[in-house]
Amino acid sequence: MNLLLYGAPGSGKGTQANMLRSKFGIPHIATGDMLRAEIAHGSELGLQAQPLLAAGGYVPDGIMINMIRGRLREPDCARGFILDGFPRTIPQAEALDVLMHELGRSFDRVLYLKVDLAELLRRLSGRLVCPECQRTYPPGTKSCQADGTRLVQREDDKQEAVQPRIEIYLHKTIPVLDHYRSEDLVSEIDGRGSIDEISSQVMTAIGQNGQVSRK
Ligand code: ADP
Repeated sequence: MNLLLYGAPGSGKGTQANMLRSKFGIPHIATGDMLRAEIAHGSELGLQAQPLLAAGGYVPDGIMINMIRGRLREPDCARGFILDGFPRTIPQAEALDVLMHELGRSFDRVLYLKVDLAELLRRLSGRLVCPECQRTYPPGTKSCQADGTRLVQREDDKQEAVQPRIEIYLHKTIPVLDHYRSEDLVSEIDGRGSIDEISSQVMTAIGQNGQVSRK
């Protein structure tokens, strides 16, 4: 199962990716998490990416394409993957088409979690995240329910970076969906309901009917 996951910052992508990962046993490849790991390790790439992420901008296409070329060839991707955060621009989408062709693979579905702008801003303001497992929590929460780690605010969830992140997403990434619409691969999911309702819509979109029990 090769899936692409789309949704603006705050759309609930991470939650649905976790559901899909435990359901199908395929890796969740989140380019934002990969970049934050590089930043945490202080690698050369991390040093280059840090100010771009902090300002809510995008990392150059060439860097991202190289990162994904390496990652999709790793053995854990043999049975499929959930790609979250890539491709975010048309050149990235074109490069991924070439890579998928080289790998002899194709996409099963492109899922787009749709949430309106006012709701996105509401969800992102004050959102907290577990630095260990990346689960997100509402403002005021102290520690992660899953592992007890003290929650932090993502640098790019701070007020000044939120609006630019959403704007660049709408401007550069929403057009990428048209690239996949021409192949009839896109399913739009209403991202406003409860987590379980949204999960059911996701499962229906990928041809797996029925209820999902959350793990
Ligand atoms: P969100 O979708 O909530 O903004 P992510 O964790 O997916 O957050 O990404 C965080 C940041 O990482 C982005 O704002 C961007 O700076 C960078 N990034 C992630 N993926 C890409 C990509 N494919 N191309 C360019 N920049 C990227």
